[in-house]
Formats: sequence, structure tokens, C-alpha cells
Amino acid sequence: MKELAQIASAVQASSTMAIDSLAKQMKADGIDVVGFGAGEPDFNTPDHIKAAADKAIADNVTRYTPASGTVALKEAVCKRMQEDCGLTYKPSQVVISSGAKHCVYIALRALVDPGDEVILPAPFWVSYLELIKMVGGKPVVVTAGEAAGFKMTAEQLAAAITPRTKALILNNPSNPTGMVYSKEELEAIAKVCVEKDIYVISDEIYYGLLYDGVKSVSFASLGDEVKERTILINGVSKSYAMTGWRIGYLLSSEKIAKVMANFLSHSTGSPSSVSQAASVAALTGPQDCVEEMRQAFEARRNYIVERVNAMDGVSCIKPEGAFYIMMNIEKQLGRTIHGETISSSDDFSAALLKHGLVATVPCSGFGAPNFVRWSYATSMDNIKTGMDRLEEFLKG
Ligand code: PMP
Ligand code: GLU
Repeated sequence: MKELAQIASAVQASSTMAIDSLAKQMKADGIDVVGFGAGEPDFNTPDHIKAAADKAIADNVTRYTPASGTVALKEAVCKRMQEDCGLTYKPSQVVISSGAKHCVYIALRALVDPGDEVILPAPFWVSYLELIKMVGGKPVVVTAGEAAGFKMTAEQLAAAITPRTKALILNNPSNPTGMVYSKEELEAIAKVCVEKDIYVISDEIYYGLLYDGVKSVSFASLGDEVKERTILINGVSKSYAMTGWRIGYLLSSEKIAKVMANFLSHSTGSPSSVSQAASVAALTGPQDCVEEMRQAFEARRNYIVERVNAMDGVSCIKPEGAFYIMMNIEKQLGRTIHGETISSSDDFSAALLKHGLVATVPCSGFGAPNFVRWSYATSMDNIKTGMDRLEEFLKG
């Protein structure tokens, strides 16, 4: 038989999804594993949102919608972005898609031709790298280490730009680092993007999960020239505990929105009608559920950061957003723990799962080989157990 497509065959499975499935399978097999793998809120979707979905089904809102989403949801997105981020968009500039992950794919589809370069600051969320390759683009990784607070500088960005550069993917607050760029840092990056004429895919899915009183600054709010070259991505998964509903949204110029809508009209057809109705309720209904969950995440962050930094041989910096910590395991490299030689973060995570029954994500796939990511979007009890187990494991 002929070979399968080269681009598709080269795609690596998502390590976050794989670890999550493995931990769930181990649990189903009766193994007492604690999962810190996938970044998925442990909270249930708030009741008023579920009620809106029930009503949509009862009212037979069960048919195709326009390819780029319903007008009601586009209006709700505009209102929420105006209220939360001070951004003014018209519904014609909004495209609804089946989750923010799909939004990244659609944005890249709209911008990138085969061979175009896309700048990706590392550490990065594992899917960005594969998605760039999936559209035939060339990822150009710019590493921002722990000492730099995992944040790429404007100078680093400028140095990475070539005549083939089409876009930058910026994720703020960041998965996996939890770091948040200040307004000044964003302005410096935006200046380079405008001067060098590159697009920015700004994934702000964690914008509602900020701690220590930090305020979110949307990249698109930095001026008209910045806004017109930005595709802003957001969605309901993280802020409203709606990961399974699969709704994300893209905000851009009308020209880009049209290209993305056309693409969607031939690929997904439309996002789920019921999930869109639920998302309208999420965005227009009471927002205190978001704040309650945010507060719970902040308490968990404080606890996990303190515990990790109290242990010998591992450490982490305190993130200001999202729900991840990056645990530095450099001092573990070369050790033998419970008979396992630790030469990489993959070895560390595998050994911790096998001997400590704790699932974490090695950051080798995130462009940060000496780090292990913990998602603290799980109960405080689980976090306590996970930390106790890590402490025992490290005694090895
Ligand atoms: N962007 C980032 C940075 C994420 O961490 C995630 C989580 N999977 C997504 C996008 C995708 O979210 P969604 O569930 O809306 O596809
Ligand atoms: N964003 C989450 C994570 O990074 C969910 C899993 C995924 O989509 O990658 O773990």
C-alpha cells in the first residue's frame, strides 16, 4: 500500500492527553493513583449552565447552526470580552469553534502556508508545536528559562524573526508555566510584531485565573495596529469548568474571521448547538462561580508551591496564573530512585507514577526538558496526598 501522508504520520500524540488516559485507566483498574496530568478543572459545570443546555435540548435546539456559531453566542462573547478585557469587537469579528485547541488550529490555518515560520516561546503547551507542523509550518522555538521567569523578551523575539516569519504564538497566562506577562512586557513584544509585520495568535484561555491581585492585559487591547494583527483565542473550558462541552472562540479582523469561518464551513460544519446555548448562559449569567473557582485555585497554588519548595532537591517558582507549576528536577538527574535511573524528566515522571502512584507530565514535550508539570486543578486532598507521596518518593 502507498505511504500515509507525511505530515499526519509525523504528528506525535498529545502527552497531556496520554498521561490523563493512563491515570484514568490505572484508577479504573483499582490502582490508587493521584492524577496531576491534564489541566482540567475538577469542578462540575455550574448548574445554571447545565440547565440552559437541558432547555436547549427540550426546545429542540438540536440542529446545525451557522458554521462560525450562533449570533447569540457571538454577541455574548463580545459583551464578555468588553466587560472583562475592555475590548470592542463586533459579532462579525467572532468565530466560534469546537474548543480553544481547535481555535489554535483554525488560526494557524488562516495564517500559515507551508514553509512559513511560526515563533513559539518555550516552555510551550505541547499542542502548539504539533499544530504548527500539522499546517506545514516551521516552528521556531525561542527559549525563556526559569531565570527569566519563563518569559520571552522583545529582544529575543526580534532576533528570531526572519523574512519567512508569519506569526507568533503567545500564551498568556501560560500553560505550562503559569507565568503572566506584564503590560510593559507585552507592549515591548507588540512593538516588535508591528514593526516586523507579523501576526500574533494570542491564546488567553486562562485569563480568568489570575492570583495575587494580578490583572489580565489582553494583547489586542494594546492599540489598533496590534489588534488588527492579533487573533485572540479564548473559551469556556477553563473559567467555567466546561472542558467537555468543546466551545472556544476566536476574535480578529473581519477579513481573518471570514477566512476562518469559510474553513470551518467545510470542516466541522458547526460547533455543537447545545454546547453553544450552554456557553451563552456561561458568558451572560452570574459570574460568581468563576470567582469561587479562582479562589480555590489560588489556595491550592499557595499550598503546592510551599510544599514543593520545602522539599530537598526540587523547586518551583510561584506562578501568577493558570493552574500549573513547573517543578525543577535538575538535581534529580543522575540519581537512582527506587532502582530507577533518572536521566530525564520522562524518567522522573515514569518512576514517580510507578513507585509513588502520582501522575505528572514531563516537560520534554513542552520545550523544558528538566521540568515536570503538575496541574493543581484537583482537590486539596489530592494535592496533599500527591505532595506526601512525592516527599516519600524523593527519599528513594
Ligand atoms: N490553550 C491552552 C493554553 C490550553 O492549556 C488548553 C487546554 N487544553 C487549550 C488551549 C484548549 O482548551 P479547550 O478545552 O477549549 O480546547
Ligand atoms: N490543556 C490541558 C493540558 O495541558 C488539557 C489537555 C490538553 O488538551 O492538552 O493538560
